[in-house]
Amino acid sequence: MSVLLGCIADDFTGATDLAGTLVREGMRTVQMIDVPTGPAPDVDAVVIALKSRTTPVQDAITESLAALEWLQDAGCRQFFFKYCSTFDSTDDGNIGPVAEALLDALEDDFTIACPAFPRNARTICKGYLFVGNVLLNESGMQDHPLSPMTDANLVRVLDRQTKGGVGLVDFNTVRRGSLATLESFSVLRTEGKRFAVVDALDDADLVTIGEACADMDLITGGSGVAIGLPENFRRQGLLEKTETADILPAIDGHAAVLAGSCSRATREQIEIFQRDHPSLKLDPLELAEDPGITARALVWAEPQLQEAPLLIYASADPSEVQQAQDALGVERAGALVEEAMAEIARGLVAAGVRRLIVAGGETSGAVVGGLNVTGLRIGPEIDPGVPWTATLGEEPLLLALKSGNFGAPDFFTKAFGQLP
Ligand code: ADP
Repeated sequence: MSVLLGCIADDFTGATDLAGTLVREGMRTVQMIDVPTGPAPDVDAVVIALKSRTTPVQDAITESLAALEWLQDAGCRQFFFKYCSTFDSTDDGNIGPVAEALLDALEDDFTIACPAFPRNARTICKGYLFVGNVLLNESGMQDHPLSPMTDANLVRVLDRQTKGGVGLVDFNTVRRGSLATLESFSVLRTEGKRFAVVDALDDADLVTIGEACADMDLITGGSGVAIGLPENFRRQGLLEKTETADILPAIDGHAAVLAGSCSRATREQIEIFQRDHPSLKLDPLELAEDPGITARALVWAEPQLQEAPLLIYASADPSEVQQAQDALGVERAGALVEEAMAEIARGLVAAGVRRLIVAGGETSGAVVGGLNVTGLRIGPEIDPGVPWTATLGEEPLLLALKSGNFGAPDFFTKAFGQLP
């Protein structure tokens, strides 16, 4: 059976978010890190995580087309271009130009643009994107350092980014159902429009929109609009109804936590976990002086792994971080910790660790890179936005990659407690 839905996400956490949504809606899903080279895994959906949100537009197009080609080879029947629910982009791109390049490559002439994510208070009304009760351009996004959003009207925004015309399907039409929505797509198409910005105020609207997009080759939007897509495949008899899309292979082995996030949430999680687990702190100032520290950390860890999960962390309070940054520079301090974490992760896995939690976005990137992880099968959610995952490959490993601020105070014990 080939992959049904092929997704291209313009950043890593956005990809995880989309993959989690698809799993909840019953699709077995793998998140690939960068454009894959090998054969497709045996799942219902693949989400390829790119870093194309703010890269030069031509690079974003090239990477996205390479991802599309791999997904086409994997036999996908439908494609999804996932971007941020605040439509992070500039007049030069990258959302519009990437979407047009994907349409061209698919020899198609029409798609939707729907970043709405009502559960996170992102709604679209008459083409205007709201964040909570305010327009996008009053939400703080107007001051974003890389992609300031100064216009909340998505029809205008996308029109400035694209050559094809952009129309609107408003909520009155969406609320008349999927057939009415589909008819408006046809009308816009005959008017020569290439895109429809589609209003959505709640999840029911997203389900209607999903149904209306059943036969569309390419869909573009936030992870919200994906909630309506799995049902299309079930209706066509291509996807079974299952409660088990999030089941991961059973993997035994030692357990450990690596924390490089200095966020308040992670520091609290560390403090709680330390009370009854062995822990070791790394200091970037010492790492700069003494390259033998990582090897010694592994010597410390190995004999204790038999007993209980252990923790190695660099997380520190703001004054300590400031001290390290003053002495080493912000980048070097971060890089020293990230390199150490990657090396320690490799050592821990060599010592039999198979259940690993990593706290921190950049830290997770470093560990995933250090372990040469190519893809993650998405499992059950531990806390909102953080699932257990299993790495692809011969010797799989259970990984929970946590953005710094995510998770309840007892996240680490809770996560290990969820595993059989
Ligand atoms: P978050 O998800 O909270 O943003 P990240 O891992 O993305 O966490 O970012 C934390 C950054 O801080 C990483 O680059 C990490 O290497 C760095 N770091 C961790 N500990 C320290 C420390 N004690 N001093 C300075 N930088 C640190």
